[in-house]
Amino acid sequence: MDNHISGNHIVAIFGGAVAGSEAAFQLSTKGFRVVVFDQAHLPYGKIEDGLPKWHHKLRDQEEQKIDEKIDHPNVSYVPGVSLGKDVSFEEIRQWGFSAIILATGAWRDRPLPIDGIDDYLGKGLYYQNPFVIWFNHHHEPGYHGPEFRISDNAIVIGGGLASLDVVKILMLETVGDALTKRGIQPDLFEIEKKGIDRTLDTLGLTMDDLGLKGCTLYYRRRAIDMPLSPMPVNTPELLSKAEMVRQKILDNFQKKYLFRFVPCCIPVAKIIDGGQLNGIIFQKTRVGKEGVAPVPGEFLKVEAPLTISSIGSIPEKIDGIPALGNVFSISNPETCLIDGFDNVFAIGNAVTGKGNINESVKHSREISSGIAENFLEWQHREYQEWHRQTTKNVDRDMDRIIDRIGRRQSLPENVSESIGKRIKVLQEKTGYDGNYQNWVRKNIPVRYETLMDSRHEARSIPK
Ligand SMILES: Cc1cc2nc3c(=O)[nH]c(=O)nc-3n(C[C@H](O)[C@H](O)[C@H](O)COP(=O)(O)OP(=O)(O)OC[C@H]3O[C@@H](n4cnc5c(N)ncnc54)[C@H](O)[C@@H]3O)c2cc1C
Repeated sequence: MDNHISGNHIVAIFGGAVAGSEAAFQLSTKGFRVVVFDQAHLPYGKIEDGLPKWHHKLRDQEEQKIDEKIDHPNVSYVPGVSLGKDVSFEEIRQWGFSAIILATGAWRDRPLPIDGIDDYLGKGLYYQNPFVIWFNHHHEPGYHGPEFRISDNAIVIGGGLASLDVVKILMLETVGDALTKRGIQPDLFEIEKKGIDRTLDTLGLTMDDLGLKGCTLYYRRRAIDMPLSPMPVNTPELLSKAEMVRQKILDNFQKKYLFRFVPCCIPVAKIIDGGQLNGIIFQKTRVGKEGVAPVPGEFLKVEAPLTISSIGSIPEKIDGIPALGNVFSISNPETCLIDGFDNVFAIGNAVTGKGNINESVKHSREISSGIAENFLEWQHREYQEWHRQTTKNVDRDMDRIIDRIGRRQSLPENVSESIGKRIKVLQEKTGYDGNYQNWVRKNIPVRYETLMDSRHEARSIPK
């Protein structure tokens, strides 16, 4: 063991994705022993289940970085253990770890603010997080997860980058299904790259021919307000340039994926028909210097067979960990210390539900009109930047966390032995034998691009 620290310290990290793996890396390379627990078999978090699968190159790069950080002799990996479900926070505290770090991300969809609407989950209403998980994995042979039924003419409520992903998924899936019905086998990645407009042009088809209307994105602000560009906006000239770029990004995106956009609308009531959610009543808004204000008496009744809410993600609550509103209660933001404890910390998306990224610390960069036109490249950069920034923030936080842990008393030998035994029991339960690389190879899902490649190869073999 690479002993840069004095004493015997073992740190538990819950969640092994971008934030958790970086924390594990910082600790393990300084000689701390680390146990990384993840509820999933593979610790890839939002990279695997939030980043839509067409970003597969970025996904593979980021997952490889996580693997390199977790596959360290000082790190024990414990898959398939959910804090709060498989093991309680109280129990983990009693194990006697030097510190516990929560890197559990933000997986709960912010509830749609309409009374009783969640009664219609699966009955005309879906939320973004499980919907994207389904999209990323339903092609896998033997997929056993929840099934989502897609409908044309759906409503998407949102406005951020993730809601544009939801729109794109809906459009790709509905067009893909319609092409399949015509005997054309679609490759969603090819359509995504080329655009639905050009794909249909090449086939000599229109949305009308396919009997499709496309979905509609409803946003509380205007197109020019969409958080689509991290450009500096601190002078009127820069602000108007940023607004122009945002409008252009949205226009190009709409042209390419053929969905509709309705600005200045907030959802206020549900439309129910035969026990199903059959649409939303929106109130019009006005955007001014003071923010967004509803316009009295101006409503829009929109009937639709499906509504998908994409208004943000917040951390899941865990019994025993104090929360303040929708986030964990942090007593000291400097040290990420959870209220009421001196050795329990939160990092990454678990802190704020927003990846802990302050827009002002993002690299302000010029977005050329080329990038605004090439939505895929722009989005790829945006996600890459988020991951880079999350890692950077964790590095900064870990300096202070490590300083605190290093000052704690060493664990007695019997405590570290007992932690070791308990870990082994949990690892054996999931069949993990301690060889991380083998585990990854065994559990990596069948990829859509692999299925498509074998389909293309089969087609090119002369009969
Ligand atoms: C659609 C989308 C939108 C994004 N939006 C933003 C944004 O607005 N701002 C931003 O900064 N970044 C955003 N990002 C980027 C990204 O989410 C973060 O930068 C980064 O990936 C978060 O990493 P994390 O490790 O904190 O969380 P996650 O990637 O969510 O990882 C959490 C890990 O914890 C595990 N876990 C969760 N609960 C438990 C439990 N109870 N017990 C054990 N393990 C658990 C999960 O399985 C997972 O592996 C977005 C990414 C996507 C794909």
